[in-house]
Amino acid sequence: MVVETERDDMTWWKCEQCGMMFDSHEDAEDHEANCDAEEPSYLQ
Ligand SMILES: [Zn+2]
Repeated sequence: MVVETERDDMTWWKCEQCGMMFDSHEDAEDHEANCDAEEPSYLQ
């Protein structure tokens, strides 16, 4: 899912599946709909 996060006084939206960040909620949701990352390829 898409999570809201703040960085540098800006609001970003992050795809929880792959960690990609977007400055637009629409872009994030659009990406998420097409995100094929079933799980992160890295673990922290
Ligand atoms: Zn993604």
